[in-house]
Amino acid sequence: MRMVELIEKKRDGGVLTGEEIRWMIEEYTKGEVPDYQMAAFLMAVFFRGMNTDETKELTFAIRDSGATLDFASIRGLRADKHSTGGVGDKTSLVVGPVVAACGLKVAKLSGRGLGFTGGTIDKLESIEGFRTNIPVDEFESIVNEVGIAIAGQSKDIAPADKLLYALRDVTGTVASLPLIVSSIMGKKLAANDDVIVLDVKCGSGAFMKTPEDAEKLAETMVAIGKEAGKKTRALITDMDQPLGSAVGNTLEVIEAIDTLKGKGPKEFRAFCIEVAAHMLELAGQGDFGACEKAAKEAIDSGKAFETFRAMVKAQGGNVRWIDKPELFPTADSELDVIAGESGWIAKFNTEQIGLASMTIGAGRSKKTDPIDITAGIRFWKKRGDRIEKGEKLATLYSCGKQKDLVKAMFMVLDATELSAKKPPETPLILSVVR
Ligand code: URA
Repeated sequence: MRMVELIEKKRDGGVLTGEEIRWMIEEYTKGEVPDYQMAAFLMAVFFRGMNTDETKELTFAIRDSGATLDFASIRGLRADKHSTGGVGDKTSLVVGPVVAACGLKVAKLSGRGLGFTGGTIDKLESIEGFRTNIPVDEFESIVNEVGIAIAGQSKDIAPADKLLYALRDVTGTVASLPLIVSSIMGKKLAANDDVIVLDVKCGSGAFMKTPEDAEKLAETMVAIGKEAGKKTRALITDMDQPLGSAVGNTLEVIEAIDTLKGKGPKEFRAFCIEVAAHMLELAGQGDFGACEKAAKEAIDSGKAFETFRAMVKAQGGNVRWIDKPELFPTADSELDVIAGESGWIAKFNTEQIGLASMTIGAGRSKKTDPIDITAGIRFWKKRGDRIEKGEKLATLYSCGKQKDLVKAMFMVLDATELSAKKPPETPLILSVVR
């Protein structure tokens, strides 16, 4: 087989066979297919797309490019949730401990943030001492003892995705349905969980901007998960505003801790309970109502918080910070974002909000960029709130970036759309693909 022929076939709208796709991914992972040819192929897929069979074959080829975990010593049903990437999305930090407190095992492998979206591993590393790089046997024993462990994606899991994602990131080929599906599901299937709930973000702060595109992505991922023998469900959720009130690593961890302690923003708590209930229901722990009740009780009884605290302790994190979040380091500069006019907050350009937080140091534009864990944005008003001219919309935090704070302030103001009328309420979960 020759790579140039496969590029030409896709360029001309042809359909690749499973054998061709597997060959291409194997050769690329070995370094036998160069990046320039793969870049051309990715662009051909971007414009021509892939049919369901090709997408499935690509997913399985990515899964099989490295090790498949079996976590043989973990006792119990393993469940995971995965978000397609959002702004202020600290859901895993709450939902993981909630479902673990309800008896599921959560052996979670997470990524770092890139571009306008954040990553769970960066968030956890803002806790002093927290280790995200732990040997498999220790990881398994923490899951058995505590119910949950969260580590960084190992090099051996779906290595083809690592290479492909880095290439997509610099060739304008990230936002392609078959490429997103195969990237996410290739990794999820290699991690081999029994129950997978996918949180497909939809809106201005997501890869999928419209409900139609999000639904297509969700349906394809659920079909592939089921074909691979996994209990899979997708939730299409709103990303037309940041999730919760906090964006930025330390700020988000503190918001997650508050939520686990029964405080935190009401709408974020409600969202976490719903996502947890979907995981519990899919895992066979009763009907949806019973699962919702169990998730609420896990928070209200303090069991979910204790589970999170035990995980932090087992992974080397300083639990004094968890007990007293005021011990987290704070930014040395802050700037309020003040409304220039009065109105109802109708909409946010959430991608712009994510980029504003990146501008002040909370995110990275290249994988190697350092991040400022104290940097971020706290919103005092959200969609549907009334704001008066001169009132505080948000506060920006960062270490030593005065000029960037001013730039980010204008970005946040530009990203906020006011209207004369109160906007209709948007549900946090737009639809469910079972
Ligand atoms: N997250 C992934 O892991 N891959 C994508 O392609 C997009 C989001």
